[in-house]
Amino acid sequence: LLEVRGVTKTFGSGRRRLTALDGVDIRLGRGETLGLVGESGCGKSTLARVLLGLEHPDAGTVRFDGTDPFALRGKDLLAWRRRVQMVFQDPFASLNARMSAADLIGEPWRTHRDVVTGTKAREKRVRELLSLVGLRDSDAHRYPNEFSGGQRQRIGIARALALDPDLIVCDEPVSALDLSVQAQVLNVLSELRERLGVAYLFISHDLSVVRYISDRVTVMYLGKVIEHGDTENVFERPQHPYTQALISAAP
Ligand code: ATP
Ligand code: MG
Repeated sequence: LLEVRGVTKTFGSGRRRLTALDGVDIRLGRGETLGLVGESGCGKSTLARVLLGLEHPDAGTVRFDGTDPFALRGKDLLAWRRRVQMVFQDPFASLNARMSAADLIGEPWRTHRDVVTGTKAREKRVRELLSLVGLRDSDAHRYPNEFSGGQRQRIGIARALALDPDLIVCDEPVSALDLSVQAQVLNVLSELRERLGVAYLFISHDLSVVRYISDRVTVMYLGKVIEHGDTENVFERPQHPYTQALISAAP
């Protein structure tokens, strides 16, 4: 599904120059979950932004099923944008407080008009999406501040699903939630993976969460990928000293 090779991204210039990504390689198959871990500032979110097409890499290649998203224009670009969606850490910050859950979930259809057409069909799809993330029909007419943190994150997930994407980039999707709520949201995400076959790039600094959800894990350090492998292999037999330290420091 996704192949990233040698992606490099530098911010600023002169003394303020900072290499956020330094030759990063990742691969992600259809329906697969790749955990991305590493300390604060190592470049995880920058990589996410590159995958969403929000940030241009200075070097390296990004391929979705062999296609370079940065070479796309017009209709092709719009079609590609549908395929990759994002779930953010703080659903409150990414959900407009003045829009109802139904409007928020259907917001992507304003840009991608042909995905679901007609008011009735859209209302029906919103109800389906609410149910997919474990919310009720009646939640459609409530506003973000009327939901709990976990429920808000479910709305963020439902919105990410509205365009039926192949890949959802989850940037610390449960970090802002209480432990018990984290587990619920993680269950929603893994059920969706089973039912819809969606792939995740799952960014988190919480190793137990990553271990639970990921098929494979990529570890980054100072903008570089230092370790990569099947989840159990990486956790049981970490090769790089940094990964070893990271895992032994985890509770
Ligand atoms: P965290 O776990 O704290 O979210 P992260 O791994 O997501 O960290 P990034 O947000 O990718 O880290 O940032 C990587 C580096 O790039 C940081 O040093 C950051 O300061 C820098 N950086 C990110 N975005 C920009 C920007 N727009 N302009 C300048 N520097 C940036
Ligand atoms: Mg980040």
